[in-house]
Amino acid sequence: MVESAYKSTLRDEVLGRSVHRFDYPCTICAMKNCNSCGKCCETAGNGGLSAAPEEIDWWETYRPEIARYVQDGRIWIDPKTGEYFADCPWLRYSPDNNKTTCDIYYDRPEDCRHYPVDIAQMVRHGCEMLEPRDFRDVELAQLKLDAIMIGSRPSVLKNK
Ligand code: SF4
Ligand code: SF4
Repeated sequence: MVESAYKSTLRDEVLGRSVHRFDYPCTICAMKNCNSCGKCCETAGNGGLSAAPEEIDWWETYRPEIARYVQDGRIWIDPKTGEYFADCPWLRYSPDNNKTTCDIYYDRPEDCRHYPVDIAQMVRHGCEMLEPRDFRDVELAQLKLDAIMIGSRPSVLKNK
């Protein structure tokens, strides 16, 4: 599939115009999936994340162990000091330090569920999903990202 046809197929999909889910046959063009390198989470300490009041209310009701690190709407706060944790307290490393997991993955903030939002953010964080070819056509790269994230957040393109 030539790149322009791939681009228009992706555009239809992220704009909800395609009837069937696109199954990414173009391995040459595809963006890599997240490899759990953890670089994005490593930047999320010290006030790098926010949560909506509804999320905080939900944690208070159903996950008080998460809510204990919320203070005055701010996440994640060390209850002993009242200051932001320097690093996200839910981030865990594999024994070889090559992979990470999130202790609250299924109840993590929307900020985390929507990540990565755009290519600039991925570049800032050194996200390992990016391939050198993604810099040739940033709009196409954004379409690929939106297609990967289709079950997790609204498309960036749709909101423009
Ligand atoms: S809450 Fe989970 S996903 Fe969000 S920054 Fe922390 S470890 Fe990463
Ligand atoms: S920086 Fe990118 S590849 Fe690494 S964990 Fe975050 S989303 Fe995944």
